[in-house]
Amino acid sequence: MLEPDNFVVREYFKKRIGDEGLKIMMHVPEGEITDEEIARLSDTKLTAVRKILYRLYENRIAEYRTERDDNSGWITYLWRFNYDNAKKILEEDADGTLTKLKSQLDEEQSGVFYQCDCQRVLFEEAAANNFSCAECGTNFEFVANDDLISELEGKIAKIEKWKKKIKKE
Ligand SMILES: [Zn+2]
Repeated sequence: MLEPDNFVVREYFKKRIGDEGLKIMMHVPEGEITDEEIARLSDTKLTAVRKILYRLYENRIAEYRTERDDNSGWITYLWRFNYDNAKKILEEDADGTLTKLKSQLDEEQSGVFYQCDCQRVLFEEAAANNFSCAECGTNFEFVANDDLISELEGKIAKIEKWKKKIKKE
């Protein structure tokens, strides 16, 4: 289930559990596996593997079931990766970011902005204060926001492309 070349999986782990977590999880073969096996396969300390696994478990990305050996009483934890949940969480993540960016873009496109030494305000506020800031005493000057707008548009396009890619996986 956890393929190292899978886009969704790679993006998720890079974002949520960092490079070490990524390295550990990339060694998890399809199906169930014990934490000891993961540690051995990824050449990582068992404690580090467990830490990552529990973080994934809290995020509903990894699941486990236990198996009890009738003779020894030993309990084995068998871990499995939940690919569908990873996908869902990634999509939710992307949606949240998109909502924020789009409302920011909307503000930038509909407003005209002025700036003093201490803050950036809308034209209406600058005009109401006679283009002079009461807080720092400097004048409000017009600032173009074309660069900021294209930056926001670029970010939005990138995330939307990424979301499409996740859906396809
Ligand atoms: Zn000011």
